[in-house]
Amino acid sequence: MRASIVFSPFLKNSYYIGPCRKIDGIERVLERFSISYHLPDIDNFEIYKYHDIKIIERIKKLPFADAVIESIKCVIKGAELIKIDDLVVIPTAGTGHKADEMRFSGYSFLNDIKTFLKALESEMKCVVIDVDRHHVEGGNDYLCICEEGSCICFEEDDTTLIKNFRDVFEDALKRDPDVLILYLGLDIHEREYFGNGVKTETIREIVKIFNSFNGKKVIIIAGGSRDDVAEEVFKAMMEELKII
Ligand SMILES: [Zn+2]
Ligand SMILES: [Zn+2]
Repeated sequence: MRASIVFSPFLKNSYYIGPCRKIDGIERVLERFSISYHLPDIDNFEIYKYHDIKIIERIKKLPFADAVIESIKCVIKGAELIKIDDLVVIPTAGTGHKADEMRFSGYSFLNDIKTFLKALESEMKCVVIDVDRHHVEGGNDYLCICEEGSCICFEEDDTTLIKNFRDVFEDALKRDPDVLILYLGLDIHEREYFGNGVKTETIREIVKIFNSFNGKKVIIIAGGSRDDVAEEVFKAMMEELKII
């Protein structure tokens, strides 16, 4: 299996927003286990291929603009890599699943999923499984873990979440994707700001089920606000994916 990680240390430079804080934890795992990664060596003009110039100009006025721009470059780089690799893991910060074309939402200033799909230019059939504390309607082939239109999974226990994930995963496979995308919002974790979340071992189980898909796989690690949570989850993920 050809696996790649796209990572940029610049993502951690904006301590104004929570999601950037998690990057330290991911970097610690990359360093401790000497995991190699791709930097997002994407030219600035590439960003304008997928976004309106007006929204980029607005983002550039924000104090954490560098992280958001770097994060979306990681996503575009990941889309390039999945054309050749079997698995691509992309930690993001400041980009997320909630941003609209022209509007910011939550900690999402650009939409990493929509950008990823656009960057693949419909070359391959993609199905998204969204596992996050927040619900998103993404249209066809965009499956939320709750399946209901409101994210209820974290009011349930961890066993129910795994069962829900298995159901959504089966649904995703029936759609016969070339690329299966797991959007993993770290805000689901029990030590994150919502509390009442899930354990690292539960996320490990989700990654294990996801990894049983035989086609190309992408994991976007978004959201979250704690480096210790990101470190623990990312290490468990790397173990489960046999990268370490
Ligand atoms: Zn969220
Ligand atoms: Zn939902």
